[in-house]
Amino acid sequence: MVGLAQRGLPVCTSCHKPISPNEKFTRFICPDCGKVTIWRCEKCRVFVRTYKCENCGFEGP
Ligand SMILES: [Zn+2]
Ligand SMILES: [Zn+2]
Repeated sequence: MVGLAQRGLPVCTSCHKPISPNEKFTRFICPDCGKVTIWRCEKCRVFVRTYKCENCGFEGP
């Protein structure tokens, strides 16, 4: 599955850091291609960092 780190934790699509399960992360399917799960950690949500889809290159806030 795309987006999983070696330890089995999901990786934030914006900052590429592993997301711990007790973080207030968010995840959603890419709105453009619908094939990739976008993960965003708590910090990237707070700072409204952009993400980029690995599959279609879609960028969003
Ligand atoms: Zn992040
Ligand atoms: Zn996409």
